[in-house]
Amino acid sequence: MKPTRRRFASAALAGLAPKSGPRIEGGFVFESAGQGLDQGHRLRDHARFASPARREKTEVVIVGGGVAGLSAAWRLDKRGFRDFVVLEAEQQAGGNARSGENEISPYPWAAHYLPVPDVRQTLTRELCAELGLLDGHTWNEIHLCHSPQERLYLHGRWQEGIEPAIGLTKTDAEQFQRFEQLIQELRQTGAFRIPMEEGLQKSTQEIQGLDRMTLGDWLQRQGLYSPYLRWYLDYATRDDYGTHYDQISAWAGLHYFASREPEDKGPLTWPEGNGWIFKRLLRKLGRFVRTGSMAFHIRRENGRWAVFTEQCAYEARCVVFAAPTWLASWIVDPAPPRWPIASAPWITANLTLHRWPDNKGLEYAWDNVIYNSTSLGYVIATHQSLKTYQPQTVWTWYMALADGNAADQRRLLLGGDYAYWQERILADLERAHPDIRQCVRRIDIFRIGHAMPRPAPGAIFHPERLRRARHDGTLVYANCDLSSLSLFEEAQYRGVTAAEHVLKLVSRAGA
Ligand SMILES: Cc1cc2nc3c(=O)[nH]c(=O)nc-3n(C[C@H](O)[C@H](O)[C@H](O)COP(=O)(O)OP(=O)(O)OC[C@H]3O[C@@H](n4cnc5c(N)ncnc54)[C@H](O)[C@@H]3O)c2cc1C
Repeated sequence: MKPTRRRFASAALAGLAPKSGPRIEGGFVFESAGQGLDQGHRLRDHARFASPARREKTEVVIVGGGVAGLSAAWRLDKRGFRDFVVLEAEQQAGGNARSGENEISPYPWAAHYLPVPDVRQTLTRELCAELGLLDGHTWNEIHLCHSPQERLYLHGRWQEGIEPAIGLTKTDAEQFQRFEQLIQELRQTGAFRIPMEEGLQKSTQEIQGLDRMTLGDWLQRQGLYSPYLRWYLDYATRDDYGTHYDQISAWAGLHYFASREPEDKGPLTWPEGNGWIFKRLLRKLGRFVRTGSMAFHIRRENGRWAVFTEQCAYEARCVVFAAPTWLASWIVDPAPPRWPIASAPWITANLTLHRWPDNKGLEYAWDNVIYNSTSLGYVIATHQSLKTYQPQTVWTWYMALADGNAADQRRLLLGGDYAYWQERILADLERAHPDIRQCVRRIDIFRIGHAMPRPAPGAIFHPERLRRARHDGTLVYANCDLSSLSLFEEAQYRGVTAAEHVLKLVSRAGA
């Protein structure tokens, strides 16, 4: 039986008791009226929106106050251009870089780390230097992930690192080595870069061909069938694209590995994940951001753009559309062609633990993964704490709803009530932590209907993606989904390059 809306709401409010163990408080977050899913569904259902009583003139409107939108704002402000606003639908800006905080620790709601950017990633390094993370070539150790960084629960015990190491046959080990060699060859082509746009020019026919098959097909062709290797690659594609390796473009799946050099340090992480960076961006740029301002309609009026929110209609020369790109078909008039890339639903949860589960004397890592779980494991918000005694903690648990069709998975995401999801989270963690129910005091759950792009074969070189990624005209796109890669660096690059494009237009118009 499908739960009704009212039953969702009551489950969200109540503290529900799990199968056994003490009562656990919590509920769904960002789901009250006028937030998150509710707002998105109003757009989807073509609901009536109130006509704004005010009008305001500005040169540039940035729609979407996530990393991409704020990166556009960062660039405009740094270039001395301040005639713009950032419209953010939610009460809290940040999108997937939002974070929360309780009496124990700040914690992330989604994005939780930034790989150490290499010397070619000049934009990200520019921001890192500004935020005091990088001094010349030296990274501030406090912000680099402390060890142990990662561990995997495999065959009933924890091993260091996420790449499976226990129980591998000689053939499995050889297949890992062969995969690494193939990745090294792809890396050397220079076609896999971050930002991805910088590598595309180097794509040969052969590399473009990788976008016409799934990563599963590619593995088959290479004779790579080790179940451990396949699990590892599946973990990676669920983590970065929200779906399985046999559904993802081989180009995208291989980009995950071939775009970065093997790291000797990092990643950069904080208790609140990428919320740490976002809060600092917001400190600089918050005066431009209007939260609770969902753009529900954008159209041309008298040679300018009119951007409607329920509070105000903005008249602007240029629009930077940094909200998810697929949304434009619901908002922009005339509607652009349907965006060809599906988006993956995700669920994350912050668990407040009043004591740590018995870890049999082992050390916890920052990132803790369970082999053959449908989840992606959990990161520990207090891992970076310098306190010598930390009796309580917060864990952030992640799961992409990776199976089959994304729309069906969204129905599953919304179909399960709070008690259902709470039980799934506890049952998942219980495999590695049998006493977890005795340790958890609270579980808050974030359901993200459209969390990140799922680039199926054909997505990367799809003409509509290539067209929308080119900055052309006075309305330009900037969300990281333009890259089909949901990464901080891609969001930043898209935001900054969109800002540079509109700066040219406004300075030409002013000249
Ligand atoms: C669970 C999860 C974990 C992740 N972990 C990492 C990680 O560890 N490291 C990493 O680099 N990346 C991670 N990512 C990727 C993350 O999405 C990007 O790093 C980045 O934060 C995306 O920024 P964005 O601005 O492109 O998009 P979003 O974060 O989606 O921002 C878009 C913004 O637009 C707003 N908006 C939408 N519609 C409207 C409208 N009509 N009007 C006004 N505003 C609107 C939204 O509310 C939102 O704030 C993760 C993503 C998920 C889902």
